[in-house]
Amino acid sequence: MTRYFKSLLIFCSFFWIISCKSQSAISVTEDKKGLTISDTTFVNLKDYSQNFVYDMKYATSDNFLKAKVYDCAECFLRLKTVNALIKANTKFMKKGYKIKIFDCYRPLDIQKKMWEIVSNPQYVANPAKGSIHNRGGAVDITLVDNNGKELDMGTSFDYFGIESSHNYLKVSQEIQLNRELLKKIMIQKGFNSFDSEWWHYNLKSALKDPVSNAKWDCN
Ligand SMILES: [Zn+2]
Repeated sequence: MTRYFKSLLIFCSFFWIISCKSQSAISVTEDKKGLTISDTTFVNLKDYSQNFVYDMKYATSDNFLKAKVYDCAECFLRLKTVNALIKANTKFMKKGYKIKIFDCYRPLDIQKKMWEIVSNPQYVANPAKGSIHNRGGAVDITLVDNNGKELDMGTSFDYFGIESSHNYLKVSQEIQLNRELLKKIMIQKGFNSFDSEWWHYNLKSALKDPVSNAKWDCN
């Protein structure tokens, strides 16, 4: 009997170790350089997909700050945001479109600068709470067609007015359909839309991740 229980104990321990190992293998993996990464690690989107179009507005002076606030144009996000965004883009590509990116992760210091200029939570998140951009879970995007031409969304990116709202219906049917197309697929892939900005999407599972002020390297 004793021997039976010993064998049972050894067998159970072995099974427990195996199941723990396989569980950890689900959420933790290695990147190309052999570094351990998880769902919440910040990664560069271009290392995971070449199928996005970029127009990183804050790495130029073509934005409401009228200043180049990023040293270089990179799209860093948490890995889970990247994975969800790639799934959405794959779906758009099947329909003949691609996601064009205006902004991704945004260090908290930049959020503070934005808040100084536009202290209106309808358009800029209060840095005291932090934006989902500061958490690596938000993207500002639009869609382009096969020729790289932006679909008409009714306003430009960062137009801070009622016309940018999903609820503003005094737009043409084409604009309404374009906004709906973007919204429908982003929601299907795990994002929330933001009522006052047709371009802004938050990954639902990133809302509570910590705020960061880390800057990326510009080589
Ligand atoms: Zn945004």
